[in-house]
Amino acid sequence: MTLDFVYQGSNARVVFGNGSSRHVADHIEALNCRRAFVLSTPQQVRDAEALANRLGQLCVGNFAGATMHTPVEVTERAVARAAELEADCLVSLGGGSTIGLGKAIAYRTVIAQIAIPTTYAGSEVTPILGQTEGGAKTTLRSPKVLPEVVIYDPELTLGLPVGMSMTSGLNAIAHAAEGLYAQDRNPITSLMAVEGMRSLKEALTAIVARPRDEEARAKALYGAWLCGTVLGQVAMALHHKICHTLGGSFDTPHAETHAIMLPHTIGFNATAVPDLLRPIAEIFGGSPGQALYDFGKSIGSPLALKNFGLKESDLDRAAEIATKSPYPNPRPFDRASIRALLQRAWRGDRPSH
Ligand code: NAD
Repeated sequence: MTLDFVYQGSNARVVFGNGSSRHVADHIEALNCRRAFVLSTPQQVRDAEALANRLGQLCVGNFAGATMHTPVEVTERAVARAAELEADCLVSLGGGSTIGLGKAIAYRTVIAQIAIPTTYAGSEVTPILGQTEGGAKTTLRSPKVLPEVVIYDPELTLGLPVGMSMTSGLNAIAHAAEGLYAQDRNPITSLMAVEGMRSLKEALTAIVARPRDEEARAKALYGAWLCGTVLGQVAMALHHKICHTLGGSFDTPHAETHAIMLPHTIGFNATAVPDLLRPIAEIFGGSPGQALYDFGKSIGSPLALKNFGLKESDLDRAAEIATKSPYPNPRPFDRASIRALLQRAWRGDRPSH
């Protein structure tokens, strides 16, 4: 390896440990904040209200309208409510959707953020904000969207349903897998990618058998942090571009889309950069795309896009959008090759590499 790289760390304070989310009040005060605004999805409103109650006078209200792919109109409602309440701090309790809403509010205001992730999506440690408006997803990068504090409390993930745990874990693995061949990778991101993928592989295998295994849950969240950190530091490539296209323009569910596409995009790129993807072959056993497909199958993760609302007749347009303003990718591609890749993922075929 030629040692020639740029490394940019993050200022975020990362707190990891069982029970760590019980000390949110200390973190709010350490940020010199007094008026926290708690965010969640409608599905996690009870947990958010319980947190708001625990914060007592440090909390001015909660907003339980977070939803997938961060629609701009939801963000605007939340920004208006935060202003009415004179909030000085956001506490985002939930998965990537809730954390995305917090980042979108922070982007438009000067409000500080504390993120408490309850899935493995990894968004809390990336300066990336994806937003949807008018049927299209756009992505921006800004240090402004990075939470000041991230609290990883594995206890909060004990009840994450097994199916969601698997797809969310594969979403994290996708961040690390693309990090291995990112143009701007560096030795630290590659180390984190390998450790993150290995941790998640072991953890997901254990969680399928024992969903409330505390050690496995901690290991999965640790892996998610590492994989998210990789995504936060390097450029995305073909895999993320296709997933953003499918989620943003066809409303396919985020984690499932990543889980299904991953073996196909990695298999596609493995023919161009087999050496860079060797860690995947070693961790999962086999050629990279096939090994990821077999692993996904073994943990009961979905394999075919056709089961997630995407019609075969959508694939032409999906290939067109995904190739229109492409992210840099180690293997050149055109619309026809991406159309063929999408067809295989739509059917749920095992990739050939
Ligand atoms: P999600 O946040 O939409 O969560 C899915 C569902 O699971 C929701 O109903 C949620 O309330 C529920 N849930 C979350 N944690 C739970 C728990 N522990 N127990 C029970 N239910 C729980 O799903 P996600 O996959 O985490 O996030 C997807 C979103 O995150 C997408 O909008 C995606 O674009 C974004 N994302 C962004 C980045 C980034 O870097 N910007 C990275 C990854 C994902």
